[in-house]
Amino acid sequence: MTNTLTIPAPKTGPAPFPIPTDLFIGGKWVKSNTGKRVDVFNPSNGEKICDVADCDDTDSRAAVDAADKAAAAWAATTPRQRAEILRKCYDKMIENIEWLTYLISLENGKALPDSRSEVLYAAEFFRWYAEECCHVLGELAMAPASGARIMVQYQPIGIALLITPWNYPAAMATRKIAPALAAGCTVICKPATETPLTAFAVAQILADAGVPAGVVNVLTTSKASALSKTILNDPRVRKVSFTGSTPVGVALLKEAANQVISSSMELGGNAPFIVCKDADLNAALDGAMLAKMRNSGEACTAANRFYVHKDLYQGFTDGIVKRMSEIKLGDAVDPESTLGPMVNEKAVAKIGELVDDAVAKGAKLLLGGQRLNRPGFYYPPTVLADVPDDADMIREEIFGPVVSLQSFEDEAEAIAKANDTEYGLAAYLYTQDLKRGFQISEKLEAGMIGLNRGIMSDPAAPFGGVKQSGLGREGSHHGLIEFCEAKYVSVIW
Ligand code: NAP
Repeated sequence: MTNTLTIPAPKTGPAPFPIPTDLFIGGKWVKSNTGKRVDVFNPSNGEKICDVADCDDTDSRAAVDAADKAAAAWAATTPRQRAEILRKCYDKMIENIEWLTYLISLENGKALPDSRSEVLYAAEFFRWYAEECCHVLGELAMAPASGARIMVQYQPIGIALLITPWNYPAAMATRKIAPALAAGCTVICKPATETPLTAFAVAQILADAGVPAGVVNVLTTSKASALSKTILNDPRVRKVSFTGSTPVGVALLKEAANQVISSSMELGGNAPFIVCKDADLNAALDGAMLAKMRNSGEACTAANRFYVHKDLYQGFTDGIVKRMSEIKLGDAVDPESTLGPMVNEKAVAKIGELVDDAVAKGAKLLLGGQRLNRPGFYYPPTVLADVPDDADMIREEIFGPVVSLQSFEDEAEAIAKANDTEYGLAAYLYTQDLKRGFQISEKLEAGMIGLNRGIMSDPAAPFGGVKQSGLGREGSHHGLIEFCEAKYVSVIW
């Protein structure tokens, strides 16, 4: 009998199936080799929700065997066949949006509106890649000297290991699974220990949509590094796609180097949010709330440092304090909540340390600043003004509901500060002068710029960073090519 978790049926939409909590290998839910389990907790009250299988090396090898067995047949399907299945995956996710929303809030702690947005965003990767699947073009050219034909075809790269974080348990998985499947690859997914349940639910939905056995496999483990070591040293595996912290990304790159495995890395961020003298103040405040508070501030693209021109600084500060104080903090599955708890004790403790450090170094605490004294991992909306450059939160990801403000006089100074980080994922910029906007955008060292926008994620756009924020891009046609090899045939006809 498969272990499962039953969650309440929503008021509208289909009832959830019992969510399997074992390993998904070769189209079957199987117990781990050791029989061991890992606990999953509810961040809203700190209590255990259930436990999931804890896999070992034997299970990891079995997942590679299953992915290998399914690989040739899946690669041989036509783009249209894969597209039809991916489109069904989209339909099924949308059909089941109500309980998927609840499930994400339950295990991750984000408020229901954030979880609902995530399901929509996550499902959209299936729709986008169902369409993109049929539009992969090759190349044909004549070699200038020999006159031979240069023919290039994009072929599936092979078995891919997909490792995802807890902050977007559905979207970070589908952003990898959808392009991999579209390219014709088979995959092994490793969700974060905090949020495995959404990944299991997605796996079952994919199977129900017609994804053949072995094409998608899911492993959970308490020993992530052992799992990646085993899988990345198996000669049949040709790709690792990782989303998570930079130190773990670096460790995986080193492991992948043993077999020269193609690596896509979506890593940490430290996004600056620049408000120029000529910005529309209200638009900048709206954008700031989105860029900071979407997903409880637990986003790699979250605005981490606000640089506001001195003429707008007071107005911006007052506006942000007012908006942050209107947020309703509470249990993630309470429909009244607009902000839930942080994911775990470590996260809430880290935010507390960063805030205490900034205040000790001279920042002015205008709102919040103390974790809530109740079960669960609650940190309130917090605003700090005049945060000094030597505060740790200027260099490190806050990953929580904390706004850190600084004023500037000179644009060049703001740009220099924005770039003074080893990260380069997202940056935000508000100005009513588009020429200035483009000029500054070119100078910002970031893979993505929100120009008068507080959000830039879009399945049709290339998501990714520069410097230590990553390698490669997800989403758009770029995301699919990450799972392909260019095969060149030289021929004279
Ligand atoms: P994390 O600690 O790096 O973990 C991410 C994933 O890697 C989890 O599944 C984790 O498994 C696994 N992992 C940990 N150590 C590993 C190892 N030695 N070998 C193989 N896998 C390992 O990151 P996180 O705390 O979950 O997520 C937050 C970070 O992700 C932030 O830095 C954020 O900026 C970044 N992020 C980036 C993007 C982007 O697109 N650039 C998007 C979202 C998040 P366990 O859970 O089992 O430890």
